Amino acid sequence: MRIHSILSPKCLVRASDIGGQGVFAAEPIKRREVVAVWGGKVRTTLEISELKRSVPHIESHAVAVCEDHFLTSENVSDFDDTELFNHSCDPNIGIQGQIVLIARRDIRVGEELTFDYGTTETTEQPWRCRCGTQLCRGVVDGRDWRDPVFIERNRDFLSWYILERLRRENGPIAAS
Ligand SMILES: [Zn+2]
Repeated sequence: MRIHSILSPKCLVRASDIGGQGVFAAEPIKRREVVAVWGGKVRTTLEISELKRSVPHIESHAVAVCEDHFLTSENVSDFDDTELFNHSCDPNIGIQGQIVLIARRDIRVGEELTFDYGTTETTEQPWRCRCGTQLCRGVVDGRDWRDPVFIERNRDFLSWYILERLRRENGPIAAS
């Protein structure tokens, strides 16, 4: 369902082996092609903490835009298609800025589109990853952005929010 975001017409939503529903390529997708543009309603940390009592998924589906501000679902009763990307520790799509997702490599028909939640979030509650890739970290917990190996692997696909955190804590990371 489209509520507030744009998903490439080359994608479709169906059941995923990773869990629940996922987004899949219905046509070949080229490296660096835009696959989704996230929209929604910007809410503060305080607003989310109040709303999550009645809408638990509002927090887990929120995307950090800058400190204390998150892009969240506008319609809290249904999921937008672009909220259904599953996490992978070796993903084939990645974030540019805070709202644009592009292909990290060429994607074949039938492949599930995944991104690494650690490239956009610092407040994930720890959960066990089932991505099944060689690079699986086992547990995803919102602290990946502090790991130099993680930063290097994902340096072109860290959200502006994560990059700002790194700049504040470590100074600028070298441009690639
Ligand atoms: Zn994993």
